Amino acid sequence: MITLFPCLNDNYGFLLVEPESGLCATIDTPDGAQIAKELDRSGLTLTHIFNTHHHYDHVDGNLFLKEKYGAIIVGAQVDEKRIPGIDIALSDGEVFKFGAYDIQMIHTPGHTLGHCAYYVPDEKSVFVGDTIFVMGCGKIFEGTPAQMFDSIAKLAALPADTKVYCAHEYTVSNAAFAITIEPDNQDLQSAVKAAKTLRANGRPTIPTTIATEKRTNPFMRAKTAEKLAEIRAAKDRF
Ligand SMILES: [Zn+2]
Repeated sequence: MITLFPCLNDNYGFLLVEPESGLCATIDTPDGAQIAKELDRSGLTLTHIFNTHHHYDHVDGNLFLKEKYGAIIVGAQVDEKRIPGIDIALSDGEVFKFGAYDIQMIHTPGHTLGHCAYYVPDEKSVFVGDTIFVMGCGKIFEGTPAQMFDSIAKLAALPADTKVYCAHEYTVSNAAFAITIEPDNQDLQSAVKAAKTLRANGRPTIPTTIATEKRTNPFMRAKTAEKLAEIRAAKDRF
């Protein structure tokens, strides 16, 4: 079971529960107090924290939640030094046993060098952090466009019906840019309308799916790393 709730200005908090064992994880810790509140409200006890990358709006609540619940912190081995309180460091493709669930770490450098996604086949879901967003992709702070291109390609290779949990609600502004890249893409036109309606009603646009992003996300649709770099640079100026 996956639940999401808003945190900070535009982040989402996510709780993942494996029902057989009752294990409960948060994916990133944008706001420790808010996550604790959601846990209380749902009568859940946190057992694990999975971090996608080291930026403060993804790890800020790590130590607070670890202290409060004794939660085990899992992150990318390459980012071992930058994830506060890390207990278990995973390498690319490694599978973490989360009760009856297998959680696969997918290294997705680009936004940061240590960035990773967590694929949960039992929930047909992937937590992508700041690698891709609905109709968008993360800023390339530490990696290269080629790395980001390869990272997005790894996500695109997941089953089409995989639900994609992005870490931020950036959809409406991403949509405004995406439509300038592919004005004639009818799937994109519909996605833009649907996103505006959801947001007007105060509802999240997340999760999306791999299939939807393949039809509508210009960054996932870029055929080459050069094209991705060009679109990313245009978005940075937008
Ligand atoms: Zn970030």
